Amino acid sequence: MGKRESIQSNWEIVIGLEVHVQLKTKTKMFCGCELVYGDDSNTRTCPTCLGLPGALPVANADAIALAIRLGSAFGGTIRETCHFSRKNYFYPDLTKGYQISQFDEPIIDGGSVSFWVEGKETTINLTRIHLEEDAGKSIHSEEANETLLDFNRCGAPLIEIVTEPEFRHPSEARAYLQRIQQTVRFLDISDASMEKGEMRCDANISLRKHGEPELGTKSEMKNMNSFRFVEKALWYEIERQADVLDSGGTVEQCTLLWDEKNNKAEIMRSKEDAHDYRYFPEPDLVKLDLSNGLLKRVSEEDWELPADAEKRLISDGNSREDAGILSGEKALLNYYDAVRSEGIESSQAAKWIIGEVLRLVKEKQKPIEHLGLDSARLAQLINCVENGTINAGTAKTLAARLCDDERNLDDIIKDEGLSQVSDEAELSQVVESVMDENPDELNRYQNGEKQLFGFFMGAAMKAMRGKSNPKMIQKILTEKLG
Ligand code: ADP
Ligand code: ZN
Ligand code: MG
Repeated sequence: MGKRESIQSNWEIVIGLEVHVQLKTKTKMFCGCELVYGDDSNTRTCPTCLGLPGALPVANADAIALAIRLGSAFGGTIRETCHFSRKNYFYPDLTKGYQISQFDEPIIDGGSVSFWVEGKETTINLTRIHLEEDAGKSIHSEEANETLLDFNRCGAPLIEIVTEPEFRHPSEARAYLQRIQQTVRFLDISDASMEKGEMRCDANISLRKHGEPELGTKSEMKNMNSFRFVEKALWYEIERQADVLDSGGTVEQCTLLWDEKNNKAEIMRSKEDAHDYRYFPEPDLVKLDLSNGLLKRVSEEDWELPADAEKRLISDGNSREDAGILSGEKALLNYYDAVRSEGIESSQAAKWIIGEVLRLVKEKQKPIEHLGLDSARLAQLINCVENGTINAGTAKTLAARLCDDERNLDDIIKDEGLSQVSDEAELSQVVESVMDENPDELNRYQNGEKQLFGFFMGAAMKAMRGKSNPKMIQKILTEKLG
């Protein structure tokens, strides 16, 4: 038994996740500064987001609408009235000395998220989703031994999605995060790139004996910047806690920082210096009253969720696996839908998109929208195979060519003489000469080595330089070989 299996047979793994997602609004959460990623440092600030005395915040209605959109998608309860609270702490990248967040009245209570893990559907309950503002960025320069501060992100709108401690394996945590990212992208709430910090995850981890109703003492892991690191970091901490417990010790509550370069976690702070945030209702903002229009506005929107898209593709004739791939990204789903609306059958559309288009996306490292092989051209290519103009092998080569060749498909086929030969007389001649040129194989075939059929098939296709109709070659060969 491997180390991880043995830990799982001794202990039940318990994980709860807190995910921050930056909302795709035009301006910040409580001021009019524009949100632009990667701009020059400290060019997107104002007295409010810098926390200068006397500046007053005003809540961004678009951010609130996006939070409601996500809360409804996950089946949460939206509070008709709620308020913001101050979370007091000092950190150089938060000049106000407090963060405006929500505490006792989050905008969304409950809800749940379903996703697939190794072919099995799993559902995790949400505790809450709340709105808050982001802090700035501290940029540590080791050479100069100094820290620089960029306040462009300070005051950016965030939602925090908190789960119940229901994950039982790191792979579930990873699949959940992918579902969250996919969902917020489908709903146009956020681009949610983990690398850019638009989606960030803190994980709470503990172990307990199987069957034990009480939760064990947890630690909190921060700074996991990709899906890959999340699983790695979780396992690292699970193994550390198991070692402590197996040797008779107790886990101390602490906060850990994942170090992706060295594949280990540093303890950032232990329980002794745990924060007391002294939350209180934010006096500079009025209570939110969503009953006057915002709730109604959002409830009238019509969004397709990833899980619904998946179901739609399954009822369109796709396997669960293919449906999952094709609805993995919104641009891919749109592409599939566009190919279908060109009149291509679902099985053909799925086969070509998964088999060829996605391979080309990977090979050319371009998003599907900029591949050069748009849905209409792919549909045309599939039709050429279906009606026998070209064979499947030629079509695959052409799919790659079309990415970089702007000429239309018919012209390429005509100019380069790629049409497949379906002329029976011509193909019969080729088959006969292939038989003449290979007397030994012919003899062996006629003496019972029937697997040599493939050899003749290949030789005839090659003689036609891949341009013959394979079904006809097969038919003629069957007749002539007897
Ligand atoms: P804190 O007060 O430390 O912020 P919360 O009760 O607010 O803790 O929970 C924060 C997150 O930690 C939630 O996602 C919750 O599900 C998770 N969590 C709480 N207790 C545990 C535990 N013992 N083991 C694992 N996760 C936990
Ligand atoms: Zn501002
Ligand atoms: Mg908490």
